[in-house]
Amino acid sequence: MTKKYSILFTTLILSLILLLAINNPPTPTALITRQITPEITIKHTPNNTVNAFILTIDDLSLNIAAQVRLTGKIVEYLENKSIPTTFFAIPAYLRPYNFSKDIEIAQHGYDHINPKDNSHREFINLTDKEIEDRLTEGKHILEKQGYIVYGHRAPCFSLKEKHIPLLKTLYVYDSSFHVPPNQTDYLIPYIWLDLTGNICNLTTSNKTLKDSKQQQLFTVIDNWTASGKPIVILSHFFDYEKILAHNQSKECLNSFFDEINKRNYWKTTMKDYAIWKSHLNTINYTINETQTGLIITFNTCLSALTFETHSKKQIKTNCPIRMKHKNSQKTTCILK
Ligand SMILES: [Zn+2]
Repeated sequence: MTKKYSILFTTLILSLILLLAINNPPTPTALITRQITPEITIKHTPNNTVNAFILTIDDLSLNIAAQVRLTGKIVEYLENKSIPTTFFAIPAYLRPYNFSKDIEIAQHGYDHINPKDNSHREFINLTDKEIEDRLTEGKHILEKQGYIVYGHRAPCFSLKEKHIPLLKTLYVYDSSFHVPPNQTDYLIPYIWLDLTGNICNLTTSNKTLKDSKQQQLFTVIDNWTASGKPIVILSHFFDYEKILAHNQSKECLNSFFDEINKRNYWKTTMKDYAIWKSHLNTINYTINETQTGLIITFNTCLSALTFETHSKKQIKTNCPIRMKHKNSQKTTCILK
């Protein structure tokens, strides 16, 4: 073979290799990287709601006739407004009372009085043993009267981080910290603005102040929703006496709850929220993607669980679906 033929032959071979390379189908590796990973997002509240809304009322007492009457007034008012409520009751001043199922009775210390300095900050400067005795005795008093105690809030929020392990032995949740020292569902924080002591306490304020105060509360509520924390509202039992008897203050309370009722919130109690979160934390799932659909297999079927996916494929799950809503961006499903 001459040099001329040799060059021609090499060029032919190289062209052939190039041609083959261009027409070659993509390798399997390239296919895998182009595949979209199917994903779902599970919402932190049930029934496709935006957030949980929980009204809490501290200091419930039923010791004397006037307190029983006030309890009746508050319960009737909140029933009319369709607002479930968690009362943090002072065990030493509680009596049996026929509450509806939308009302939770949780524990608020033992007697709200500090035995060392007589202040309302019940647990300040007490030994761990003294605190434990008061909590245990308080819980026992409530249980003897037929109340089932799930949760606790310290009077004047007078507990410290070091008491959390003790609280965990006694309660399903605690709400003594407005900024919880650690990120856990066990500690349910509350919004520090007091609905009855401040926001709607208008017995000495004018109307302009009323509107700005309520605006301030809703700004905080919206920020909390953005951060994924439940909306836990703080209020006080004895404040309702003057609020419900004062026109402008009552009107403030009315408009607050009317606005809440317009929003897509899950209105609930602390106990039901804590139980829901503990169920939610046990949920896991696998997703298989076929030519036509996504098959989602949950480890358990949690009623009202809501999830979203951006996949355009048909959704199938091992749990029955109560509602499926599809728009151009996403599909939302609620389990039965
Ligand atoms: Zn209190």
